[in-house]
Amino acid sequence: MGEAMSAGALQTEARPAARELVRESYKSISLYSPNRAPCRIDLSDNTNMWGAPPAVRWLVGSAPDPVITRYPRAYADELKRAIAEYVNVDATSIVTGCGSDDVLDSAIRAFSEPGESLAYPDPSFPMVEIFARMNGLTPRAIPLTADYDVDADAFIASRAPVIYLCSPNNPTGTSLSRDSIERIIADAPGVVILDEAYAEFVDSNFLDLVRESDRLIITRTLSKAFGLAGLRVGYAVGSPALVREIEKSRGPYKVSSLAEQAAIAALTYDRRWVEDRIVDARDARAALTQRLRARGFSPLQSQSNFVLVPVKEAAKLAATMRNAGVAVRPFSGLTGIGDAIRITVGPLDMIDACLTALDEGQS
Ligand SMILES: *Cc1c(COP(=O)(O)O)cnc(C)c1O
Repeated sequence: MGEAMSAGALQTEARPAARELVRESYKSISLYSPNRAPCRIDLSDNTNMWGAPPAVRWLVGSAPDPVITRYPRAYADELKRAIAEYVNVDATSIVTGCGSDDVLDSAIRAFSEPGESLAYPDPSFPMVEIFARMNGLTPRAIPLTADYDVDADAFIASRAPVIYLCSPNNPTGTSLSRDSIERIIADAPGVVILDEAYAEFVDSNFLDLVRESDRLIITRTLSKAFGLAGLRVGYAVGSPALVREIEKSRGPYKVSSLAEQAAIAALTYDRRWVEDRIVDARDARAALTQRLRARGFSPLQSQSNFVLVPVKEAAKLAATMRNAGVAVRPFSGLTGIGDAIRITVGPLDMIDACLTALDEGQS
């Protein structure tokens, strides 16, 4: 046997198996897998059930070649200017991303080192725990108070370098109190990320706090009120110094040219259309809430485009409703709430169909 061969064999033996090559902290992460099987009426993901904005629909069909053949702007500068105008801040205070998921993930990475912790409310947006683990952080869930506010003292005491808050909160749909948010911002040792994915559906948002605090980052999205979830556009507003760090951690070319152009159209030409759909969503929310109450349910007081309804055996009920052609999002054993289904609001015919399916599932 030649020497070269035995050296090769030895090397093979010393090599770990491919499955051992994964990052240790990734072993506890599973792929995100909500049930997205097609359903006649899908009220499970809080997207815009009234459809795509008309100018975006036109633009997507008629984009010129360079939108397809050339690279986008590295950091979506034109889109930043359109967003800056929409939220009334300077463009240097904006960072964009491939959905606000990307912005959240990049922000968490930018302001922490592996091994540190991320504090977030429970229940809240399920992706946050995954982002914490993806970035090597220890997730620290802090239960919401009985009236669905954040426990400011517990967040401050956590000493976490990154605190995530969400208002209106998903999946409860409820808003946090200004007092609690202000206290956390005033006393937290690190950066506070406030997720306002549903800001358009609430009476008053917290954007003004960004001007007062240089450690607050507010994330927003075009996936919900603006109807662009499939195109993946999100953004954050914060002090230029923090926003620049998020941009570093995010990297270039995250917003495709088509998505950038579509988002600009949605924020400008389609603004009126979007505003009208927000009014529709709020009306539908009131109608759905009232009709659920009339059936004896106790839906939470939503400030979003969805309603959370405590039920018995949510998974079983959602499966029955799915068979009847209506998808809702089930949650099992939510902290302080128990089982619940989350229903995205939509045009009244969809709400009718949803309530019919719910009645069938209950009987
Ligand atoms: C939907 C949602 C997002 C993510 O939106 P994308 O911009 O589509 O990534 C972020 N936060 C909350 C709370 C959401 O519900």
